[in-house]
Amino acid sequence: MNSNDWFSKKMGKFTLRFRPYTLELRHVFTVASFSRTTTPVVLTELEYDGIVGYGEASMPPYLGESQESVMNFLNKVDLSAFNSPFQTAEILEYVDSVDLKNTAAKAAIDIALHDILGKLMNQPFFKIWGLNPNLIPATSYTIGIDTEEMIRKKVAEAEQFKILKVKLGLDTDKMIIDTIRSVTDVPLCADVNQGWKNKEEALEMSHWLKERNVVFLEQPMPKEMIDENAWLTEHSPIPTIADEGCQRLIDVPALQGVYTGINIKLMKCTGMREAKQMAEVARALDMKVMLGCMTETSCAISAASQLAPLVDWADLDGALLIGNDIYEGMQVKDGLCILPDRPGIGIIKK
Ligand code: MG
Repeated sequence: MNSNDWFSKKMGKFTLRFRPYTLELRHVFTVASFSRTTTPVVLTELEYDGIVGYGEASMPPYLGESQESVMNFLNKVDLSAFNSPFQTAEILEYVDSVDLKNTAAKAAIDIALHDILGKLMNQPFFKIWGLNPNLIPATSYTIGIDTEEMIRKKVAEAEQFKILKVKLGLDTDKMIIDTIRSVTDVPLCADVNQGWKNKEEALEMSHWLKERNVVFLEQPMPKEMIDENAWLTEHSPIPTIADEGCQRLIDVPALQGVYTGINIKLMKCTGMREAKQMAEVARALDMKVMLGCMTETSCAISAASQLAPLVDWADLDGALLIGNDIYEGMQVKDGLCILPDRPGIGIIKK
């Protein structure tokens, strides 16, 4: 679904606008469980006192939200009880209470609200948080599961990146790694997307991958296999990271010992506010922190990038994987994330 017409609703001092938009992927994207060529999103604009904040909900189909469910959720939200965007905590607690789940829809409001706050303070959000943009780790670039020929082509296209993320979890894992290693020595991280089902085989693979300079393993086994994931984490020579197994702040404490770290994504955790809390709680628990994304425009990617100085690994390639980004924001140059020195989340319309 694609529409140039914005749905608009006035709620006291705030006006919320939203419209569905379909992201066109530059390559067919295949992971352990599915393939696809588009990603549905809903773009939002929240206006307060003439200032417009931009937001976005991205809904990869496996997470259960759709353009329809996001727009239904946004139709239920009513901010007329709030007088100021600086009531941020109250506003976002209210938004979270409107319905269960709907985390991407909630993120679309959270991001737009943070954009307004930054614009009212006339500062980029990373500065408001006191974060040093020079501390952002090099972002990885994702190579989906593919044929040998296509993998070589994608790796050649990814020449600027200092780290590549490889999707594993099918019976082609060793072929994929060997193919990449035949063309580049750049460090890799591996995302198994719950594809391995046996802990001994997973451990064997983790040693095999370490020998080939794979630096961590994301969601090696199904999230329900808690004891097996904990066993693997204890024995693996490389860190393990929870992705599907870690959605929101409340999940983090129980993951200590099950994984080495967590992958935080705005669309899983309702946005920037909770994402920052998750990073801080994970740090306090001595866990590693990765910051990831869905396929998203530069809107949600630039919002996530504001907290990237806090993390060990950044995987913020979502806007690079699409051909019809309508915003300009965080840029990737020589594999490094460059944050624009613009207020809020730092994006402009192209
Ligand atoms: Mg993942």
